[in-house]
Amino acid sequence: MTCFLNKNMNINIITAKTAGFCFGVKRAVSEAEKLAEAGGGYTLGQLIHNPFVIKDLENKGVYAVDSLDEIKENKPVIIRSHGVAQRVYDELIRQNIDYIDATCPKVVKIHKIVEEESGKGANVLIAGDPSHPEVKGIVGHCLTKAAVVNSAEDIENLAKNEASFVQNPLIFLSQTTGKLSKWIEYKKIVKKHCTNLKIFDTICRATTCRQNEAEELASNCDLMIVVGGRKSSNTAKLAEICQKHCKTFFAESAEELSADEIMAVLSDRVSKKQVRDINIGITAGASTPYGKIKEVHRYMSEITKNDEMDIDFMAEVDKTFKRVYIGNRVKAYVVAVNNTEAIVDIGTKHSGYIPADELTATPGTLPKDAVKPGDEIECVVTSINDQDGIVYLSKKRVDAAAGLEKLAEACTSNTTVTGVVTNVVKGGVIVSCEGTRVFVPASHTGISRGRRGEQPENPEELAKKLEALLKKEVKLKIIEVSEGRGKVVGSIRNAAKEESDALKEKFWSEIEVGKRYVGEVKSMESYGVFVDLGGVDGMVHSSELTWNRIKHPKEVVSVGDKLEVYVKSYDPEKKRVSLGAKNPDDNPWTKFLAEFAVDDVVKVQIVSITPFGAFAQIIPGVDGLIHISQISLDRVTNVAQYLTVGQVVEAKITEIDQEKNRVSLSIKELLEEQAADSDENDPEEADEETVSEEE
Ligand code: SF4
Repeated sequence: MTCFLNKNMNINIITAKTAGFCFGVKRAVSEAEKLAEAGGGYTLGQLIHNPFVIKDLENKGVYAVDSLDEIKENKPVIIRSHGVAQRVYDELIRQNIDYIDATCPKVVKIHKIVEEESGKGANVLIAGDPSHPEVKGIVGHCLTKAAVVNSAEDIENLAKNEASFVQNPLIFLSQTTGKLSKWIEYKKIVKKHCTNLKIFDTICRATTCRQNEAEELASNCDLMIVVGGRKSSNTAKLAEICQKHCKTFFAESAEELSADEIMAVLSDRVSKKQVRDINIGITAGASTPYGKIKEVHRYMSEITKNDEMDIDFMAEVDKTFKRVYIGNRVKAYVVAVNNTEAIVDIGTKHSGYIPADELTATPGTLPKDAVKPGDEIECVVTSINDQDGIVYLSKKRVDAAAGLEKLAEACTSNTTVTGVVTNVVKGGVIVSCEGTRVFVPASHTGISRGRRGEQPENPEELAKKLEALLKKEVKLKIIEVSEGRGKVVGSIRNAAKEESDALKEKFWSEIEVGKRYVGEVKSMESYGVFVDLGGVDGMVHSSELTWNRIKHPKEVVSVGDKLEVYVKSYDPEKKRVSLGAKNPDDNPWTKFLAEFAVDDVVKVQIVSITPFGAFAQIIPGVDGLIHISQISLDRVTNVAQYLTVGQVVEAKITEIDQEKNRVSLSIKELLEEQAADSDENDPEEADEETVSEEE
């Protein structure tokens, strides 16, 4: 073989940043390593599609079994990242076998979608390889009918032969390692045939990232090496993608590579294309261990005899794989959420965890209420365990830093912000606002602390009042931000005052006589009540509360009641509003005038005695005055000698003053008339009169 490569040429070996274990595989392998340390066990099926990893695990006492029947010892079983059908879980429980569920959270999400949607009656259509364990597992969670399609032709045939299947409500999703371009094509065809369709894009981001990077790398390389297990579908897809752009070798390890073949390809490139720069790309499937990538990289360096590449591969890998350090801010992709943490992918070889109390500043918030799978969030690295490949992160701290900036802005611009009261502390409360703890001194909480000059309340009483604010959403003004110390002070009182001032201004600009309001009775005095009209209090005098005569407002209203009122008069300068609450439709005068007239004789009840006469109720709300001179035929000097409160008497209406709403009554006139009548009817007196007339 003639080799055209020489020292004057630039030979670059580029490893894809995304090459190697994905999040789900890393998690499953880590569980298996833990199991090995704990005494070994089994994996249900090969943990990942990589023979070297499987061999390594066997050496450590973790064996792959194809079915539960093959389990010989009472040791735990790992469910691999592909997941399994529901019946497998049922069987594990039935046989009382301990199991560790390492199903990738992204696959768990698909199982949930399938269970939920098929539970509502939808059929399930899956784009993927029907023999792939992940696909079999997904089918095993379907409660209705499921079908798997692996080509455009499969979909067309299904639509033709199984019309009822596609016409039923249908969900369409993909195997996580599906190829994006195919998935886009399949979706178009399925949409054409199905009217009642829901599509779930379930291709894993780890897969698409690898595929996109492989495509880009291959398009800039003269040769690609794809490292990974032959049974790994995602590795095979990478090889398929790379093949379209340049000569690609698919190898499980460096041993499978042939130096002659590789040099022939490179020589061909140099001679035919007359290139001086040779780029060799290396990528690997999601189930390929780093050791195998390293091996291939070293092998390629050796056969191309490029001295510049004679460097430590791990250093090179370290450059290509994103590294993180404590304090780094990173973008994290939420892959799963459980009761205690969120599991995230930060694009490194680590598994990322955000404990519940590092998700939000609001204590007691469940992780599921803070983030959901699929969210992209910003976090800060709080600790790294390189040995276990674990990174702990905090979203709360990033939120707090961003929140601090927002609060500083709110402080400068005097903007009102909203938060939730989370704690009562010495001298005030803590409000969680924009992910930041804001201290609100008790004097700024807006709670009533007694009137000026009164004894200061004791700390216990104060704490009790402050506790009433716990978990409440409050509006507040930021009055101090000390960014260096991260200290923020707020005022609920200032925000409330601003709101109340704005309400008052609006009120005074809109008030007019006769305008009606519905307000709350805020306080009560013996002469009337004060009603909150929305920031401004108005007064309803007792006489304006009801048409009836009352001694105290409490007879008709209570503090806290809603009262419909209208404006009788107002003084914007003195900030006084006089209100009425009597409904004109209930005006007893209208009723009285319709029923009674002068000279009518009515039964009335004495309601009060005065030196100049007695007031008597004619109907509720209308009293008449029986003047002292109209009480008896005798001369009356003391009203109480003739009448008592509560007594019912007959009287004659002698006058109605409609303007002043006054009625005059007379018992005397009635007595006179009665006397006259009786004279007329008395025969003796009549005779006497007759006699006298005759005389
Ligand atoms: Fe999970 Fe994606 Fe890896 Fe599959 S490729 S195991 S879905 S992270």
